[in-house]
Amino acid sequence: MNAQFDNRLTIYEVSPRDGLQNESTVISTRAKVELIHRLVASGMKDIEVTSFVRPSWIPQLADAAEVVASLPAHDDVRYWGLIPNRRGLDRAIDCGLSHVATFLSASETHNQKNLNRTQRETLAAQQEVIETAKAEGLTVRAYISTVFGCPYEGYVNVEQTIRLSQALLESGADYIVLGDTIGSANPAQVKRVLRSVAEAGVPIDQTALHMHDTRGTAVANVIAGLNEGIRIFDGSVAGVGGCPYAPGAAGNAASEDLIAVLESMGWSTGIDLDLACESGAFLGEELGRSLPGRMHQVYLANREEEESCSA
Ligand code: ZN
Repeated sequence: MNAQFDNRLTIYEVSPRDGLQNESTVISTRAKVELIHRLVASGMKDIEVTSFVRPSWIPQLADAAEVVASLPAHDDVRYWGLIPNRRGLDRAIDCGLSHVATFLSASETHNQKNLNRTQRETLAAQQEVIETAKAEGLTVRAYISTVFGCPYEGYVNVEQTIRLSQALLESGADYIVLGDTIGSANPAQVKRVLRSVAEAGVPIDQTALHMHDTRGTAVANVIAGLNEGIRIFDGSVAGVGGCPYAPGAAGNAASEDLIAVLESMGWSTGIDLDLACESGAFLGEELGRSLPGRMHQVYLANREEEESCSA
């Protein structure tokens, strides 16, 4: 490894938004803010804190404004809010957020079901939203869901992802996030898709991966992405956030699992693994259910053992 080699990686934490949005137990605003405090204390610098979709869509995140108003102020932490449309952007700006995330789907059917609009309509509206956000000085990450497979259509052509990525970048998006919404990707496919996307001119340093662990392949897919030059990976502490198309399945890639494996390979996330695990344990207690992350479970087992030893 030469002296110039930059071994830093970004774990983009989605538990307060993507994680909680799939949980039926609504937790208090106070608990969400406490979770975010803990995530920051662990060293996380990019945290998606809430969503500005219509409150009736996702009651769990109806307290978006209150959560944002209570965020601990840190110059070096970027708090992100998910926005479905112009109205969501306006609400995010009113709350004082300066980092927003848009979303659409690579497959037409998923886009229709998720956003109630055709992909073409969604893209046109989002391009306007992104242009407005950029004119306001905001940072924008644009999620593309179902890149690696669609719950309705199955196979998704990578040309769709390329076309959408290019359009979103042209409108000013700072990052493109490729999502494995149903957790069906495999490492060979990740490699293939990323090579196609990169060959089409989408900058790899502006591309992030958002993997789900439905089939236990999230870590393997992240490593495949790492090998293709990806340096931003989405994660959720304790793996919280089930797959809406596979009831009972594991959710997002668990942040602690990503931190553990990537750090052991010599990469630096800047995040303290124990403190990340503590954050996940706190969230599990608040939700009152056991969560799927592997390191999360190791952490809980060790803690229990220590407690019984000291008792
Ligand atoms: Zn997710």
